[in-house]
Amino acid sequence: MNTSNHGTSSTNPGDEAAPGTPGTGENICPVCNGNGRTDTGECKNCGGTGKVIEGIGGA
Ligand SMILES: [Zn+2]
Repeated sequence: MNTSNHGTSSTNPGDEAAPGTPGTGENICPVCNGNGRTDTGECKNCGGTGKVIEGIGGA
């Protein structure tokens, strides 16, 4: 259990909400297309996970 605010276990810049938030779900990171990496290294949008949390059911 590491709740450091510099950790990688919570949200990333590309997340719209924290994991487990009702009405949201994982989606493929649009920046790295799910690779978790970009040309310059680890994807900053998803924190290298290749996934982001986005709202479900939006238009
Ligand atoms: Zn990414």
